[in-house]
Amino acid sequence: MTRIQVGLDGIPDDTDVLVIGLGITGAGVALDAASRGLRVVAVDAHDVAFGTSRWSSKLVHGGLRYLAKGQFDVAHESAVERGILMETTAPHLVRALPMLIPLTPSMGRGQTAVARGGTQAGDLLRLAARTRRQTLPRPRRISATEALTLAPVVRREGLRGALLSWDGQLEDDARLVLAVARTAVAQGALVHTRVRVTEPTGSGAVLTDSRTGATRTIRARAVVNASGVWAGQLVPEIRLRPSRGTHVVLRRETLPGVRCAVMAPVPGSSNRFVFALPQPDGTFYVGLTDEEVDGEVPDVPEAPEEDIEFLLGVLNSALQYDIGREDVVGAYAGLRPLLDAGSTTADLSRKHAVLVSGTGVVTVVGGKLTTYRQMAQDAVDRGVAEARLTAGPCRTRRLPLVGAADATELAAVDAPPRLVRRFGTEAPAVLADAVSVTGLDEAELLAPVADGIPVTLAELVFGITHEGARTVEDLLDRRTRVGLVPADRELAVPAAERALELAGSALG
Ligand SMILES: Cc1cc2nc3c(=O)[nH]c(=O)nc-3n(C[C@H](O)[C@H](O)[C@H](O)COP(=O)(O)OP(=O)(O)OC[C@H]3O[C@@H](n4cnc5c(N)ncnc54)[C@H](O)[C@@H]3O)c2cc1C
Repeated sequence: MTRIQVGLDGIPDDTDVLVIGLGITGAGVALDAASRGLRVVAVDAHDVAFGTSRWSSKLVHGGLRYLAKGQFDVAHESAVERGILMETTAPHLVRALPMLIPLTPSMGRGQTAVARGGTQAGDLLRLAARTRRQTLPRPRRISATEALTLAPVVRREGLRGALLSWDGQLEDDARLVLAVARTAVAQGALVHTRVRVTEPTGSGAVLTDSRTGATRTIRARAVVNASGVWAGQLVPEIRLRPSRGTHVVLRRETLPGVRCAVMAPVPGSSNRFVFALPQPDGTFYVGLTDEEVDGEVPDVPEAPEEDIEFLLGVLNSALQYDIGREDVVGAYAGLRPLLDAGSTTADLSRKHAVLVSGTGVVTVVGGKLTTYRQMAQDAVDRGVAEARLTAGPCRTRRLPLVGAADATELAAVDAPPRLVRRFGTEAPAVLADAVSVTGLDEAELLAPVADGIPVTLAELVFGITHEGARTVEDLLDRRTRVGLVPADRELAVPAAERALELAGSALG
């Protein structure tokens, strides 16, 4: 029964490992520890993927940007982890994304040479990580005609061709976190949302049900703080310098015919780009900014107008026509949990850190979605050593997530393509679950919940029965991402309410 639970019920008084936070890092730690045979309780104050993990660019990157900064170890680690996700642990949730750098007149010869060297170095990273060429094809220079076939919106005047390279793209970041969390449950972890941790020490913490305010204590032999940008609120020795990254959301019609990511160089920088990333639901996410932020960490960061203006300005420099503010149908921002190291946030190393506090809490922070597995391995290794726990070796490198299968197996799964894309081999079980819980027929469960919105009632119901969703927000902002376009979200609310009503009685 790979079900995520809600609230304090079912959490024991005593465990081997308590994990604080169910972003990608905490979910990864829960999976790593449980798969080594440890007893694990993993909780989140809000919901799975409530924090930074749902505000990413949804890329599984090879780490080229770090290579450009001379951070070879970070780049290599990213490339290795990308290969593991694409070939072993989550091939159902990650696919190869073609990325196009148009060689427009604004890309000078020098910048072109740097970009070309970058794509070739990216291929060497792939090779060094032993990722197959079938998984990520070879980068190449293409003609202007070929570039315009892939991206007809690119500025035509003076177009000299384009550089085409490949990286990994997630179906959705929150879906990866949910898959990792449910795989942890399958390995025996207890994963509970709506449980806030306070007063953590190396031997336990206070747990509060965020809905009822009920509290209790838990004893743990190791406590891992994976609360991202909030890590310093639980362990005061941790000092973070969060940096904001903003994306805007465009509809497919705004960039008609585009079949790849389009990258536009940021003026004055040799290795920063604004990219428009095509999404499986028919939108584009355009990102990314990198701005240091001070003060209180908000639950949900806001995307400021100046970030939106910057992104549109840079993207427009590579396009045949200008995209206006009125074309922006959504915007989101996330805070990178970067360790304070005294330099600017754009230069801070994206390498993760594992730190042990005076009271013995193990904090794991920094890094990125792509490297969650290695981060979790390092954190659990440290926790096991500090607490002198008896545990098996790390197994996650070869442990597929729930629903994982290779392309041939996935192609043979008897279920609608949308469900296979999001649930892999579990897709038929998602549908069967929804039929048995609601008594509705398949056609109704698989119909788009509103005109032009491909979300189905089947996946909403499964979100409630297996993924711990209990509110409209859980369903529309994390189990599905229709919430990224507020106008679409409004249209999907009745379906979310209906799913809660239908599945609520089944939950008792
Ligand atoms: C704009 C942006 C784009 C990015 N794009 C990419 C990308 O494309 N690819 C990539 O690999 N990486 C990317 N990253 C990096 C990546 O998203 C983050 O490094 C990663 O998501 C951090 O995950 P986390 O689990 O550490 O933190 P979070 O996801 O923030 O999780 C922390 C969790 O802790 C919970 N919590 C906090 N306090 C408590 C408490 N007291 N008790 C219980 N729970 C608590 C929160 O509710 C939250 O759910 C991006 C980052 C940003 C900001």
